[in-house]
Amino acid sequence: MDNNYEVLVIGGGPAGLSAALYLARYKRRTALFDTRQGRAYWYQTNHNVLGFPGGIAARRLCELGRRQLADYPHVTIHEQRVNDIRMVGDTFVAIGPDEEWCGRAVIFCTGVVDHYPEFEGWQQYVGRSMFWCITCDGYDSQGRRVVVVGNTNAAAAEALQLQRFTDQLTVLTNSRENHITLEFQERLRRARIPLLHDRIATVRGRNGQFEALLTVDGRCLELDWLFNQQGATPRSELAARLGVALDAHGYILTDTEQKTTVPGVYAAGDVTRLYSHQIVTAAHEGGQAASAANYYLYPPELKDD
Ligand SMILES: Cc1cc2nc3c(=O)[nH]c(=O)nc-3n(C[C@H](O)[C@H](O)[C@H](O)COP(=O)(O)OP(=O)(O)OC[C@H]3O[C@@H](n4cnc5c(N)ncnc54)[C@H](O)[C@@H]3O)c2cc1C
Repeated sequence: MDNNYEVLVIGGGPAGLSAALYLARYKRRTALFDTRQGRAYWYQTNHNVLGFPGGIAARRLCELGRRQLADYPHVTIHEQRVNDIRMVGDTFVAIGPDEEWCGRAVIFCTGVVDHYPEFEGWQQYVGRSMFWCITCDGYDSQGRRVVVVGNTNAAAAEALQLQRFTDQLTVLTNSRENHITLEFQERLRRARIPLLHDRIATVRGRNGQFEALLTVDGRCLELDWLFNQQGATPRSELAARLGVALDAHGYILTDTEQKTTVPGVYAAGDVTRLYSHQIVTAAHEGGQAASAANYYLYPPELKDD
């Protein structure tokens, strides 16, 4: 099999699919690798993606993206994990379980791994009644009983910000340690938002809808929705192996064209920064990264800079 490509796109969520689509339109021979284990493959309906009255499920958006790519025979989707990557001369070599693929440029669209509270059966709640992002789901929390889970100021701040949607809020640290500062504890107190330093033992609910959290100290917290603020880890380890610079939180550093600190290496989507983890941001950055990679691949005599 000919495993030589112009561009390797690692990750096939909104960022990677958008990058591959732009590369398809630039007529670049492209390989897209995806394991469907990112945020866009959880159950979730997006109501802030322009053009979809009533919202669109992220999974459906990805399926539509894959169908769109099927029109371009020079783009190949490999349903495979890239386990390693290295540089050999001016070629990037991506290494899978049984195969290797070569490319002259690479775009990392690998997303993040969320740290959800891991009670039994937690997966069925993600995107149905367990969320993390005010931008995405704050609006629909109106009038609901919401528990914000996390032991840092980020959890306290999210609860304070959610007040514009609901006044039935509780913060639960779900940890042996409480890192919420006295200043934020005082802000919660003034807002009459209870702060409970306790951990989830089990959950009562059905079909992905919470009814109650039962805690280690014997509390029963009735709730409709949970907002998780236990953080996320960027999947940036492959990029780091190429020597790409990361920020203090492990996100891949990029400029406004999605270039990393290593020539020929680009990054897009949630893996590039701590904030603005959104479908449209990921799609925008994917397109931007593809355009920069396309330009990088032109021979010097075709460039005007
Ligand atoms: C519950 C929930 C609700 C959300 N609601 C909204 C919303 O309403 N609006 C909104 O705009 N956003 C929402 N988001 C956020 C949105 O899903 C993300 O911002 C978006 O999916 C980021 O796209 P991405 O392509 O950067 O990463 P992801 O969607 O995470 O995709 C990364 C992909 O890379 C693949 N991958 C990683 N490493 C490798 C590897 N080594 N080899 C092969 N493949 C690999 C993964 O399998 C995955 O498919 C929500 C997220 C969740 C979880």
